[in-house]
Amino acid sequence: MPETVFAKIIRGEIPARIVHEDDRCLAFHDVQPQAPVHVLVIPKKPVENVAALDGADEALAGHLVLVAAEVARKLGVGDGYRLVFNCGRDGGQSVDHLHLHLLAGRRLGWPPG
Ligand code: AMP
Repeated sequence: MPETVFAKIIRGEIPARIVHEDDRCLAFHDVQPQAPVHVLVIPKKPVENVAALDGADEALAGHLVLVAAEVARKLGVGDGYRLVFNCGRDGGQSVDHLHLHLLAGRRLGWPPG
């Protein structure tokens, strides 16, 4: 998997506004927020996207979701938010390192664009 900007954030080589870190993942504010709260939860393990996950990653994928819920509570938006994995170019993915978007702080429209 080619190196991405998120790998550099994990290694601390470029700055990020980190809101959570543990042995398996990192959560930080999106640099171009699409909502008042826009956080990305990423695994430290290099995985390209949801399509690249396999059975061995089941606990990791669940962990990302639970961390996103915890971060939402911590940031005061635990009552309403959206979690999104963009997968592939047609899915809107621009950074090829798995990431879970946590969006909150405004009424979110449906369907998404
Ligand atoms: P996606 O389009 O689903 O691949 O989302 C990638 C997200 O990464 C976008 O929302 C970008 O704004 C965000 N992003 C790209 N570079 C950085 C960075 N250096 N720090 C924080 N967020 C970033």
